[in-house]
Order: sequence, then C-alpha cells, then structure tokens
Amino acid sequence: MNNLIKESLAKLKQKNIRNPELDLRILLKHASKKNNEIILSNLNIDNIDIVKFNSFLKKRINRQPIAKIIKSKPFWKNNFYVNNFVLDPRPETELIIEEVLNIYRNKNLKLKILDIGTGSGCIAVSLAKEFKNASITAIDISKKALEVAEKNLKIHNCYNQIQLKMIDFKNINSKFDLIVSNPPYLTNEQFNNADPEVKNFEPKLALVGGDDGLKFYREYSNNLKNLMNKSAHFICEIGINQRQNCEEIFENSGLYLNKIVNDLQGIQRILSFSKI
Ligand code: GLN
Repeated sequence: MNNLIKESLAKLKQKNIRNPELDLRILLKHASKKNNEIILSNLNIDNIDIVKFNSFLKKRINRQPIAKIIKSKPFWKNNFYVNNFVLDPRPETELIIEEVLNIYRNKNLKLKILDIGTGSGCIAVSLAKEFKNASITAIDISKKALEVAEKNLKIHNCYNQIQLKMIDFKNINSKFDLIVSNPPYLTNEQFNNADPEVKNFEPKLALVGGDDGLKFYREYSNNLKNLMNKSAHFICEIGINQRQNCEEIFENSGLYLNKIVNDLQGIQRILSFSKI
C-alpha cells in the first residue's frame, strides 16, 4: 500500500475516527484530478492533488465532518450543499420523507406543506421532487441557514415550488395539509457530550432544544393545530427517549399520534400526528 495512504490512515486512527478507510477514500476522491472512485490498494497517486488532499486530511484530523469538508451530503435522492451554518442532513431524517410517502400515495396531490426549521432545505427539496404539484413554505430563523437552503433550491431547480421565509413559526398564519419538522432537540448536556464533529462544526441553534430538549415541541403544540387543515398531518423527528413526553405534549394540544417510526438503531425517531 502506498505510503501516503498508510500514513494518512494511521493519523485518522490515532484520532479515533470511526471509519478511517471510508473517510480516506472520500477525501482522496474529492482531491483527485479525475474525481473517480478510489481503491486504496490500487491508488494512482499522480491523479491526486496532494496539496488539496493534505488540507482535507488536516481538517478531518481536526474532527471536521466529511460533509463539511467536501461541502456536500447525500439525502434521500439528491446531494445537498452544506456548510457550518446548517446541520448535515442525517439518514434518520429521511424517515420523514418515507412517512410522508406512506401517507400520501397520490404523488399528484396539490399539497400545501410547511417545513419548520428547514436548515439546508433537504426535507423541503426532497418533498418538492416527490410531489411535483406541492407548494412548500420552508422557514427558518437563521439567515445563514436560509442562504444555504437558497443555494440548494437553485441546485435542484425548486424555485417554483418552495418559498423560503425568515420567520418564526409563531408568526405563520396560513393553513397547511402537511407540516414537517426536524427541530433542535438535544439537551444541553447531550450537546456538551456530543462528538467534536457535531459540537464544533454544527450550529448549536439547530441542535439544542433547551435544558430538556423539548422546548420546540412545547412551542409547536401551542400553535400547530391552528396551522393545520382539517385532515392535515404533522410529522416530526424526536431525540432519544422523547417519545412519551412528545406524545403527551401534542395529545394535550389535541393532536393524535398515529405512528411511531424507529430508526435503524431501533430508536423511536419519527412521530406522525393528525388533527382528526
Ligand atoms: N440527531 C442529531 C444529533 O444527534 C440532532 C438533530 C436535531 O437536534 N434535530 O446530532
């Protein structure tokens, strides 16, 4: 094996990075002049821009997440531009899309959708692509996050379907058929104990939901019903061990829990509510 690879792997392993081989392949691919798939045992070093690769490797050793280094993360069926002002789209959040597709079998529906805390815009764009007649309002209180979402709308050509707004959801006053959200739900303690990849490179604003992580669910529960059409659905992501609290919070506000979806680790992750 090439020395560059051996040394780079050793450095990544020394920093306890979980998937050193995979990370190395991705970084090499993005530093390669041909942008082709990398096979570590058979690397042609001449195709690698070494200066670029070394700068990537240094960032990764510093525990910067891969997506933040290469500024791209796959979610559902597309790649999304990301930077430090948004959460990297996570695979468990794709379960929201899956659940929406379970509920609405007819992809031609003219759904009116609200995405609260859109961040990179990954949920809104993915829904726009699945439901070509849907019109989506995607909101966030972070201007910097909305700039990222805007970029993703442009990349994925969704301007005609998605309207971005810098607004607190409390100030929204129209009605929707579907509301989706992946709000900040970590407790302060969980955030403090999070991996450096999360703690040092992702926006705290998008991660922490107050001391017990439930702040946003409580806020949503006060208003959400007024934003929902008669047969509307509300689908949100939750943190570990938050199912019971969230169920109570929303049922007290008159929503019914229809479904709990577990993620691949078996954690109750997505809650799907309806008004009737
Ligand atoms: N699942 C994320 C994490 O653990 C948190 C996402 C969120 O707060 N919505 O890093």
